[in-house]
Amino acid sequence: MADRQFTEDTLVIATHNAGKMREIGTLFAGFDIDILSAADLGLAEPDETETSFTGNALLKAREAAMASGKPALADDSGLAVMALDGAPGIYSARWAGPDRDFTLAMDAVEAALAKTGSGDHSAEFICALAIIWPDGDEVCVEGKVKGRLIFPARGTMGFGYDPIFQPDGHTISFGEMNPDAKHAISHRADAFAQLLARCFGKADGR
Ligand code: IMP
Repeated sequence: MADRQFTEDTLVIATHNAGKMREIGTLFAGFDIDILSAADLGLAEPDETETSFTGNALLKAREAAMASGKPALADDSGLAVMALDGAPGIYSARWAGPDRDFTLAMDAVEAALAKTGSGDHSAEFICALAIIWPDGDEVCVEGKVKGRLIFPARGTMGFGYDPIFQPDGHTISFGEMNPDAKHAISHRADAFAQLLARCFGKADGR
């Protein structure tokens, strides 16, 4: 069956994160769509209780669509390290502790990898995006960027695990890459391109 097309004039973004709102606002700048955040609407933030990126993105989008009566978009993302069976994965933010200290999280990844004794440094960033309509229709996509972990960390740009991630085909880390270059190849860009192609009638979402 063909994917549901987005024809409404308002889209709720199921996030309370101002940075994500800005980024998503930019992506929809060329569309005649009012973008509202879950925070603007005073919606609660659900606990991310699912066991996959897709599950958590669907859970957040569903909650916002039901509470607002409008179509809602949510994302969930993280770093998956192959030698760690995909960890930290959906727990990527949690590995940074209550203070969201990513130096701590990157050290924890390095230590966990050393403990496995594996020389395999391959990893990928994953971004799931889900859009759900109040009548229950849903479309979900998963974007990826593959690369390898580098230690010590390099660069001060970006956020989270960027300084230890070197995308395939590049000799610098995401932490050393200017934001436009990262956004051109990131897991988030990949997921958005897929979603725009499937639901917003854009052959090339970038
Ligand atoms: P969430 O999608 O808001 O749950 O964020 C998950 C976590 O994954 C973030 O806090 C970061 O630690 C990590 N993460 C997701 N995307 C990126 C990225 O592009 N660079 C670095 N870390 C990321």
